Amino acid sequence: MNETEDTLTEDSPVTRDNPVTQNTAQRILPVADGRQVKAYVREVLVTDRRELAIVVGLYAAATSAGLVAPRMLGDIVTGVQHHGTTAGSIEVLAAIIALSLVAASILTRYGALAGARFGESLLARLREDFVDRVLRLPLSVVERAGSGDLLSRSSRDVAALSQSARYALPATLTAALSVALTLGAVALDSPLLLVPCLIVVPPVWLASRWYLRRATAGYLRENAAWAEITESLAETTEGARTVEALRLGPARRRRADADLAGSYAAERYTLRLRSVFLPAAEASYVLPLAGTLAFGGYACLRGWCTVGQVTAGALYAAALVRPMDELIQWLNQLQTGNAALARLLGIGQVAADREPGGDRPRDEQLLADQVRHSYRPGRDVLRSVSLRVRPGERIAIVGPSGAGKSTLGRLLAGITAPAGGRVTVGGVELTRLPLEDLRGRIALVSQEHHIFRGTLRENLTLAALDAGDAEVLAALTAVEASGWAQALPGGLDCIVGSGGVALSSAQAQQVALARLILADPHTLILDEATSLLDPRSARRLERSLAAVLDGRTVVSIAHRLHVGHDADRVIVLEDGEIRESGPHRELVRAGGAYAALWESWHGAADAVSRH
Ligand code: ADP
Repeated sequence: MNETEDTLTEDSPVTRDNPVTQNTAQRILPVADGRQVKAYVREVLVTDRRELAIVVGLYAAATSAGLVAPRMLGDIVTGVQHHGTTAGSIEVLAAIIALSLVAASILTRYGALAGARFGESLLARLREDFVDRVLRLPLSVVERAGSGDLLSRSSRDVAALSQSARYALPATLTAALSVALTLGAVALDSPLLLVPCLIVVPPVWLASRWYLRRATAGYLRENAAWAEITESLAETTEGARTVEALRLGPARRRRADADLAGSYAAERYTLRLRSVFLPAAEASYVLPLAGTLAFGGYACLRGWCTVGQVTAGALYAAALVRPMDELIQWLNQLQTGNAALARLLGIGQVAADREPGGDRPRDEQLLADQVRHSYRPGRDVLRSVSLRVRPGERIAIVGPSGAGKSTLGRLLAGITAPAGGRVTVGGVELTRLPLEDLRGRIALVSQEHHIFRGTLRENLTLAALDAGDAEVLAALTAVEASGWAQALPGGLDCIVGSGGVALSSAQAQQVALARLILADPHTLILDEATSLLDPRSARRLERSLAAVLDGRTVVSIAHRLHVGHDADRVIVLEDGEIRESGPHRELVRAGGAYAALWESWHGAADAVSRH
């Protein structure tokens, strides 16, 4: 069991039935453990060891130069005590002190510069690494994890890590170096005076140990609680219309209150840790100075050391306060950074759902072979579905809601890997194809699509970067959208998406289809891709789309059965299984499930058109 888990149960204000712990337990995205974080930090520091050595070298030189002055002052005191000091010798010592201080300032400046450069490059690498990890996340995991956790990891955790990499790490290193070198200087001055300096070690060690055993878990909980707030806020904003329509306002507010209470409890816990640890640590700083003066005085009287040595020792003890204070403060920041890094590294631990191999599909034949899928253990949504889609064939998948049609569509598009069986194109499993290659072959348009903030042209050429205006306009014409698109202010240059011209859901669906035409894959999976248009426009769009897509393989999932009428083959899916399969006419003639569906749909459609 690692330290994080260990401390969760011990001395924790957050109980098992508190929302914070519960939500943490539900997290889809993992969090790295202490050992993994350490290994990663070590690896990163080793990679940057040259820069690190320069920072350490400069600070060591700066600190050493700063340590000359107390020693010289001690020598002056000794000289005065023994009446062996002349004005000339004091001037020489004063000049050495002045020079050492100037050297210390210059070296500190360059040390700080090198430290900042080191921190920035470290941060840049951590960020790039994080982006790589996020981009490798399987889509299904992103969907399950929800946006809040990922958003808070990529905003708050990255910010906390920035603080640590930019400031805390270089500052901690230099403060630790200062403490070590100052103690070294005390040892050179008088080894005996190390004793009062070292009495600070046990209390600081105990306080730090107490704190560190609890801090990472505390900060992890704090960040998880923050993710919860982000998640619920994002959900409320995205679903604002539903919230308003169903008068969910008070319920959402209660949820926000509960999230805030969870966050408050988590923040209070770390605040309590800090409020015990920091004063305890700070109180210990004065111990070396007080100890050196008291013990040094006694040692002087006993003739164990000179007044000059005690003077230098006391100055060194006083000089320990600042780096020790910094060390403690940054240690706290490092803990926050540590928790953030654990969450960011956790993203990389999600198992990839794709493993690109070197095999090339021999043709464009899409095949689902005894495919099984479930979202929850023991509840199969698809059961042994086998489907061979001939290149150029137009297939309609119909069936009642919840039958598993969308799931099959996602498996056929390679978005989700099946839990059992295989989905192949040209003999190669979809999950073994590099994503770029797969998307060039098979693409899916579902009801959910996104208009990115940018020009309409940019939104369309996402899928085909080098498409010219003529191609873009042709694609818009094919989806019956050229009329409204050209009427937009600025036409293709019109800024759409959040903050720009708001497109209606139907228009957004047309944009998604036009993107698909530009991407030009050989197989298209259309999952209710025209459902947001009114029936008449949808029918028109489907006809013009069919003309453009002639020769392409099209799998349409639809509840409007005219899609089945227009297709080469209809697949009826019920309860996760293929019940019927064949051309529209044959199935209607057979008088089975499809015939019944067609009868009721046709009757209803006729009734609608009569009114
Ligand atoms: P259809 O498209 O035919 O309506 P779906 O494939 O969307 O069917 O869903 C089939 C079943 O799987 C339904 O019971 C649905 O509740 C469930 N389901 C779909 N998506 C998810 C998901 N992401 N997590 C859990 N269950 C899901």
